[in-house]
Amino acid sequence: MELSLARKSAWERLSAGEREQVFAFAEGYRRFLSEVKTEREAVRFALERAGQRGYVPLEQLPPGGIKPGTKFYLCWRDKVLLLGIGGEQGVQEGFRLIGAHIDSPRLDLKPRPLYEKGGLGLLKTHYYGGIKKYQWMTIPLALHGVVMLRGGRKIEIVIGEGENEPGFTITDLPPHLAREQMEKKVNEAFTGEDLNALLGHIPGAEEKEDKDNRVKLSLLKLLNERYGVVEEDLIAAELQLVPAGPARDIGLDSSFIGGYGQDDRVCAYTALEALLDLPFPPPQMSLVLLIDKEEIGSTGDTGAFSRFLEYALAEIAHRAQLGEFLNISRILSRSKALSADVTGGFDPTFENVYDRQNALFLGHGVVLHKYSGRGGKYEANDASAEYMGWLRDIFNNYGVIWQSGEMGRIEAGGGGTIAKFLAFYGLEVADCGPALLSMHSPLEISSKVDVYMAYKGYKAFFQA
Ligand code: MN
Ligand code: MN
Repeated sequence: MELSLARKSAWERLSAGEREQVFAFAEGYRRFLSEVKTEREAVRFALERAGQRGYVPLEQLPPGGIKPGTKFYLCWRDKVLLLGIGGEQGVQEGFRLIGAHIDSPRLDLKPRPLYEKGGLGLLKTHYYGGIKKYQWMTIPLALHGVVMLRGGRKIEIVIGEGENEPGFTITDLPPHLAREQMEKKVNEAFTGEDLNALLGHIPGAEEKEDKDNRVKLSLLKLLNERYGVVEEDLIAAELQLVPAGPARDIGLDSSFIGGYGQDDRVCAYTALEALLDLPFPPPQMSLVLLIDKEEIGSTGDTGAFSRFLEYALAEIAHRAQLGEFLNISRILSRSKALSADVTGGFDPTFENVYDRQNALFLGHGVVLHKYSGRGGKYEANDASAEYMGWLRDIFNNYGVIWQSGEMGRIEAGGGGTIAKFLAFYGLEVADCGPALLSMHSPLEISSKVDVYMAYKGYKAFFQA
């Protein structure tokens, strides 16, 4: 019997042959990260993967059509996706849900983004989610999103990902002229209004009559020629500037993955793969919820604070074989969930923000959090001892290497997840996901072994 809880690198605790699986799994994950940079792209990726594995639209199933092993999905406004597989038990016994968010911090274009100043054409942005603004300057950015043209035609735009495509960037002062800037507090030195992206600077020849807007007009002309867009269309658009280019391995031993949007698409990917790889119908209905808007407080019609889950469950119940009359709330109250989200890993360079005893280490396995939140556990979903015990036993029985603790010192800060919004329905919920370095930066870092253990843990959660 082990009396004390040891700390040991997961790399040293892998079973025979598992190291190869860790690296193989990371290949697929890295490709996914390179390809998927927005919530809409994440939904499309998951739909394609699920389609290949025989998942069908929930709407196509007749009443009673969900049987053990039936695979289905419900896509909501192109930004939310619920994937499910019927369990051995009927849904009246409850379900198991893994919820991950697929939105990430980024720079959205303002409704009227385009302007010209100093002979440069620029785009105004409004950042989305919590960012350290200076991290988004002087790096290559790509533009992803959709625009609604007049009359309802929707066009999709991705500019700046291909090697030979132009990209965008946000400029910063040279150190030579930054004396005043360097003396300010970081938050005052770099403000939201400073995040303006370069769009071009060739003046149009025919625009002579509007001499202060010759660059802007020639850029509008380009947008119109290439995409059919006029300035008013940008009001009915979701255009996001995100870090350009592919994700990559980091470290001489290739043990890390560096890439944009790992909060929280690492959990979206691992949860999706866990569901798709279930070898047989799980004991209970297994659901993966990929949800939007977590980074701005889970608000809006595509966020976890909406009643989408309730609606989806009504659609599911209608198609499940229910043995007795049941209402949706009762099913929800019998269900269990993991709020699959990342947390902050210990960064030795900034060690004073952590409680070393409770810090989370990259490479020590997937994190199982009893609670997140801020000082005083405010805004936290504080999971019960019973539920933590149940999860702990599953992870141990299935060889999942995991760790637990807190993100940082009590006074250092904190953060939330969708856990509390799932708990609102009466689900038992705990937070579970890999720890990251440089969270919310353009280049977030994960450990390949933690990513693999998230996948393994999520699969065990469904299978147990
Ligand atoms: Mn997150
Ligand atoms: Mn986040």
